Amino acid sequence: MSADRDIDEWLAERGITPLDSRTRARAALEEAKIINPKKARMSEQKLERAEAVLAERFFRVCSAPACAQVANASGRAPLQVEPRTYCESCGGSNNRRAVADFVEACKRKSVRRVVIVGGSPAVREELEEQLAGQIELRMVDGTERHTADKARHNLDWADLILVWGATELHHKVSAHYTGGPPSVSRKVIHVTRRGVAALLEAAITHLKR
Ligand SMILES: [Zn+2]
Repeated sequence: MSADRDIDEWLAERGITPLDSRTRARAALEEAKIINPKKARMSEQKLERAEAVLAERFFRVCSAPACAQVANASGRAPLQVEPRTYCESCGGSNNRRAVADFVEACKRKSVRRVVIVGGSPAVREELEEQLAGQIELRMVDGTERHTADKARHNLDWADLILVWGATELHHKVSAHYTGGPPSVSRKVIHVTRRGVAALLEAAITHLKR
């Protein structure tokens, strides 16, 4: 048995299926003398080096604008992949893409401090993890006692407050954040849809207004 692989097939397993991406990836591999331009196959011994060359040179990215921004900032050449599960920025996850879009929208509007009121512990953990280092985040447990004083501090502190109904959120908690003067209510958004992506999309829509 010959220990070699079809090059295009190997590239496709990495999401490198768009014609232009394939051409550029092949050119990089040819330049590194890993593949022969006249051959459709490459030896299996070279697969590891091929992988390293591609990883060093390219940032594999889907078509989402937020992911393009991440790719451009990576210092590597963006390489369009399809399907988007191969995207190094979002991995095809709606949540991760929504996070990237949200961070981008916040930057444009100089929003740095965000309070999220409500949500499950798991969702809070996910948001904290994904927004860490990009957005200053305060999470308010919607099921615990929350004093008016604490709420006032949060209202002063935040550039944006997301009150997430349809989740674990007691009226006693959310009431602290509603019905304030216009200077405050301007930065408070009520979200009634479930899911991280829906929450962040509602925030993005608000920020774009
Ligand atoms: Zn992506």
